[in-house]
Amino acid sequence: MFCPKCRAEFVEEITKCPDCGVDLVEILPPEDEILYEDYVTVYTTSDTGLIAVAESLLKSENIPYAKKSEGLQPVYGIGFVQFQVPPEKKVTAAELLKDLVESGDEITNDEIFDD
Ligand SMILES: [Zn+2]
Repeated sequence: MFCPKCRAEFVEEITKCPDCGVDLVEILPPEDEILYEDYVTVYTTSDTGLIAVAESLLKSENIPYAKKSEGLQPVYGIGFVQFQVPPEKKVTAAELLKDLVESGDEITNDEIFDD
């Protein structure tokens, strides 16, 4: 039996993952990467500070996300990163990242961490 969330394997008798609290499945779904094809981009930035903020925001809401950078032009040695989330999480993620989108790339790292 496998946990579909953390992908850990358990013996037959166990039906729930003790870590995730989700029901175990007999066969794991295909690799996560395949699901990423369905992901939609909610945020794009080249600012490493904003990337970190966006990541912590998504993690705090337990929103699964993928960071995609391939195929995008690097700028000043730092590539643009696209944040992608499952379609059903798009509205939640967009709301969460709204402030970052509005402030755009104008904001500096100093401003982010300045209370
Ligand atoms: Zn688990």
